[in-house]
Amino acid sequence: MSVASPPAVKLPNFVNGQWTNSDASEYRAVVNPATAEQIAQTPLSTPAEINAAVEAAASAFPDWRRTPAEDRIQPLFKLKQLLEEHLDDFGRIISRENGKTFSEAKAEMRRAIENVEVACGIPTMMQGYNLEDVARGIDEMMIRQPLGVVAAITPFNFPGMIPFWFLPYAIATGNTLVLKPSERVPLTMKFAFELLEKTRLPKGVVNLVNGGKSVVNALLDHPKVRAISFVGSTPVAKYVYSTAAANGKRAQCQGGAKNHVIVLPDADMEMARQIISDSAFGCAGQRCLAVSVAGTVGEAQKTFRDAIADAARNLRVGNGLDEGVQMGPVITPQSKERIESLIGLGEGQGASVLVDGRRSSIPRYESGNFVKPTILDGVPADSELTDTEIFGPVLSLVHANDMDEAMAFLERSAFGNQASLFTSNGSAARRFRYEAPAGNIGINIGVAAPMAYFPFSGWKNSFFGDLHGQGRDGVEFYTEKKVVVERWAKEHSRKF
Ligand code: NAD
Repeated sequence: MSVASPPAVKLPNFVNGQWTNSDASEYRAVVNPATAEQIAQTPLSTPAEINAAVEAAASAFPDWRRTPAEDRIQPLFKLKQLLEEHLDDFGRIISRENGKTFSEAKAEMRRAIENVEVACGIPTMMQGYNLEDVARGIDEMMIRQPLGVVAAITPFNFPGMIPFWFLPYAIATGNTLVLKPSERVPLTMKFAFELLEKTRLPKGVVNLVNGGKSVVNALLDHPKVRAISFVGSTPVAKYVYSTAAANGKRAQCQGGAKNHVIVLPDADMEMARQIISDSAFGCAGQRCLAVSVAGTVGEAQKTFRDAIADAARNLRVGNGLDEGVQMGPVITPQSKERIESLIGLGEGQGASVLVDGRRSSIPRYESGNFVKPTILDGVPADSELTDTEIFGPVLSLVHANDMDEAMAFLERSAFGNQASLFTSNGSAARRFRYEAPAGNIGINIGVAAPMAYFPFSGWKNSFFGDLHGQGRDGVEFYTEKKVVVERWAKEHSRKF
């Protein structure tokens, strides 16, 4: 007799300091991408539950904004310590629900922690400015105040790091937050909120709601939500940005990407091979800063092509929790199917498949969503692939006769999340930094991910809004400027 495995646990929400079960009538399965095992169920929370979360945040706001900044950051110091103590736990949870390797998962939590550290500087970062005697006896000052209830909506590919691009800044500046993680990877934030509970933040300051599109719509429509931070695909980013704006909300929406790297003949080819291989195939290519198109210039064509093909063939693919595995699966079977069909499309439009990762099966993990590293050579400029985000371990090679031609690839791109150059020529590097039309630039860097004290920039279809996530931009986004003009002492003032 076969023994049925226990039903996967239905996840609760965290609202007003309490874990509460959802009354949802629909759930989405959370599935380990390496094993196809169902590990949890995400409720598509009801409108009443979203309303309760926003109301809890709204009730917590008046007291929280009056809490001195110095006191608001104390729970963040505690959180940093807890996140560090539980780094390995996060590594396992992220790898299990997202598929990336244990070390990639821990690395993303390091970036999360970095954002907590930066937000601990809020008493300095949130300061305004002032000038005495703008007229005789009259002083003027600019102060920053929190907005109220803010919401963050995040994607599947960095379940731990991306929520922390927003949460620490939102609450340190005195706002209260409702967070909706991706329904495909909700376990990481469940664990993070269990740790947040231990920091003794007042009830309602941080709230976690699970679900998908309907929850996003409820947040976009709620009159008490003042601002929306979003990260995800371009069509959804555009939709969230325009709906938030139409509803009078502040919005910062990070979208998809198609990142280019240019390799000049004078580049250190061994460094370029290693770094570009990690950028294209790390996290199974599911990074918004992953290099997706490599443009070689002149003689770099042959040397780089041979080197990168070698690197792609030798990567060890498997379950991210197994020792020595360098690349995990992609998120869903549908994603694997889509990636494989895009490789076929590229082939059909004239590219040759130099390294073919389709139809991969990994021993012991035959049900996993594995696509091995793939390289398409000679993708024609007018191919549909040129502007399609594949979001898998696929690198397209294109060739240019000189740097002008290579820069034109970037100019034509609809996206502008990241662009990189590999060279040993300072003048070429300066030109690239100056002219490349993208928000994050790497010079001999494969994943130009900004540190937490720099904005996570993004241009064109990769970002909708004005103020980015992280650092000073985060503080600007989560605060409203108020200007005060003040007259007091009569003897210094104009006589009436
Ligand atoms: P996604 O757009 O499918 O989902 C993102 C979030 O939006 C999730 O919380 C999801 O529940 C919600 N959502 C999905 N469809 C929706 C809809 N129709 N209406 C309202 N809400 C909806 O993105 P994903 O697949 O989770 O993440 C991958 C994408 O995110 C890629 O395109 C990647 O490039 C992008 N990304 C961008 C950045 C960046 O910094 N620009 C960073 C990470 C990921």
